[in-house]
Amino acid sequence: MIGVGLYDPDSPIRIKMVHSGGGAKLDKEFFSEKINRAYAIRIPLLETNTNSYRLLFGENDGFPGFIADVYNKVLVIKIYSAIWFPYLKMIMEQLVEVSSCETVVLRLSRSLQNKEPACQMGRKTFGLTEGQVLYGELKNEVIPFVEHGVNFSANVIKGHKTGYFLDHRNNRKLVGELSKGKTVLDVFSYAGGFSVHALTNGATEVTSVDISKQALALAVENGKLNSYSGKHITVAGDAFEVLREFISKRKTFDVVVIDPPSFAKSKKEIGKAKKKYKELAELGIQLTSKGGMLVLASCSSRVTADEFFQINKEVLNDQPRFFTLQTKTQHDIDHPIGFKEGAYLKTGYYRFLN
Ligand code: SAH
Repeated sequence: MIGVGLYDPDSPIRIKMVHSGGGAKLDKEFFSEKINRAYAIRIPLLETNTNSYRLLFGENDGFPGFIADVYNKVLVIKIYSAIWFPYLKMIMEQLVEVSSCETVVLRLSRSLQNKEPACQMGRKTFGLTEGQVLYGELKNEVIPFVEHGVNFSANVIKGHKTGYFLDHRNNRKLVGELSKGKTVLDVFSYAGGFSVHALTNGATEVTSVDISKQALALAVENGKLNSYSGKHITVAGDAFEVLREFISKRKTFDVVVIDPPSFAKSKKEIGKAKKKYKELAELGIQLTSKGGMLVLASCSSRVTADEFFQINKEVLNDQPRFFTLQTKTQHDIDHPIGFKEGAYLKTGYYRFLN
């Protein structure tokens, strides 16, 4: 026997491996060992002033299609495959025990939400529904939490994914540290992760750009959970157009962060995605002040880190200003990388010398 997998008739990956090297019984002990191992990896992060973290990062922690994020005392489980329904209660109880969470919310992927509620391919959804409170009470769907000393909140019912993007935590901290006394542009800001760290760390002015007005409202709300004296400006619109407009007005910023959504949702979009990264790097360069920092990120797993950094390098080499690549980063430690495609997030910090 080579291992144990769970059968998912609805997924292109029909068998999802949960154990390799012989047989295993999928009982309490089996899952508890994996959960304790996952928790142990996160302990250094929990020793910082942070109470929000990813406790299970899918395949990378041995739980393909299963995410568990903690926001303060609320655990949000997001399931992408029906294979987990029969084991959910057992796993949830152990996650509550290790995390000391008081409430558990269930989020389902779009494909699971669209399933027939009773039965699909003979597989029951066990009566579980999107946004269901599985344990404890959820008095307010907006949960306050702390990320390296900065206050945020996540809507665990209506927010993207589980409510917030935890993967950039360390990059936000780095951007915060760069922002004292600076002007900052946060492009594709969503709930203001980078913007709020910049404001809280003493940025004089932060401009958040996003196509979604609701996202910008969240960014403002999140900012107000902290004390800061800088100015917070929001601009709603298509980032490519907004950036071009800023360039035409000769605006520049000391720190420019560009963290777009995944541009390559399928294989055939890879070429188009690469063109967009190139375009964003070109726009970002023109918006970064003399001596400023340009931070370029990509979360498309189909564009590898090598390819992404190569695109940026070509664009930067193709323009007259001097620069150094100061740092390259991956996910924070609560997103361990267990397989090649797990390394989806990459960020480059480019410092201009003139
Ligand atoms: N930087 C954020 C995460 C970005 S998620 C963080 O640190 O948390 C991607 C965001 O891009 C979403 O908020 C989405 O509304 C926004 N978006 C998608 N397409 C856009 C476009 N063409 N122009 C501007 N924003 C866009």
